[in-house]
Amino acid sequence: MNPYLNRLTQETIPYAAGEQPRDGERVIKLNTNENPYPPSPHVAAAVAAEVPKLNLYPSPDAAAARRAFAAAYGVCADNVFVSNGSDEALAFAFMAFWDSGKPLATPALGYSFYPVYARRFDVPLIQIPMINTLEVDTETLTALPPHIGVILANPNAPTSLALPRDAIARITASRPNAVVLIDEAYIDFAPDSVTALPLLTDHPNLLITRTLSKSHSLAGMRVGFAVGSPQLIDGLSRVRDSFNSYVADRLAIAAAAAALADTTYQTETTRAVIAARDALTNGLRSLGFTLPDSSANFVLAHHPRKSAPEIQQSLRERGILVRRFQNPPEIADRLRISIGTESECRALLAALAEIV
Ligand SMILES: *Cc1c(COP(=O)(O)O)cnc(C)c1O
Repeated sequence: MNPYLNRLTQETIPYAAGEQPRDGERVIKLNTNENPYPPSPHVAAAVAAEVPKLNLYPSPDAAAARRAFAAAYGVCADNVFVSNGSDEALAFAFMAFWDSGKPLATPALGYSFYPVYARRFDVPLIQIPMINTLEVDTETLTALPPHIGVILANPNAPTSLALPRDAIARITASRPNAVVLIDEAYIDFAPDSVTALPLLTDHPNLLITRTLSKSHSLAGMRVGFAVGSPQLIDGLSRVRDSFNSYVADRLAIAAAAAALADTTYQTETTRAVIAARDALTNGLRSLGFTLPDSSANFVLAHHPRKSAPEIQQSLRERGILVRRFQNPPEIADRLRISIGTESECRALLAALAEIV
């Protein structure tokens, strides 16, 4: 035991991120849901133009990134909050909206950072069991007592499944005085009928988080967003300004604005990822894997004869990284595979054909 730690830090069980290879190590990296393509070509020039201004602090609310997000997604810039990756917006939400008097519920199978935040910020977290192993139980979430908030990822990770917008609407409408947070990290890979953005006008208790890490190829830049009513943005801003006034740096703000403005490039790369996902899904099924149709940039696959740890190890030996979660046990025999380029997916299928 470390005698210097305070109680909460002692009790914290940190999030375990997927393996990051050493710089220069040549692997096919399909383990942390990054985009296989580089960011928009406009990003480099935008970042370079900011370098001479690095002596000056950035805009505290990342105004240029907020405006670019608002323009790209048809929302009002006043309703947009910028964070250092969407993980930070999630952490701020835990600090701003929930505590022992305002508890939180989440599907038992979801983003594994939520239980970490719940412990770290002393928020009671109620885990709602899944239906048919992978499906979110909308009815139970809707029927919870109305003071309980809800957090869920849609599309969900690591299941890759999405709830339709009307399910989100029912959950949100069932608790107008508690915050419902929908984590839309993978939304650009899902059908248009999934995003909860159109619900914002009628639901001031709805907060939506987004990230540029997946669909905009900027995982290395750390830019996330939260969109919601003025009351919710005020809550996040209060937490930010009691913590770090400048959560996004000048380079990140410039990169974000440039990436969001280049909707043509984002649409093209997203289409390529979706096409590769659908081809990979078929390829995996013809090798005997079972997997649901994905609405994200990854799949969750199970093989009936070869165990997931064995397959993961054999892939590792061939220089291909994929992810496996040991908990909960229902998914321990599945591999979460991020969608790479078409040629990376072909290399994966060729390796799997030898292994299984
Ligand atoms: C990747 C991911 C995030 C975090 O993204 P960052 O913006 O890179 O912090 C948040 N939620 C889910 C469900 C994710 O998969």
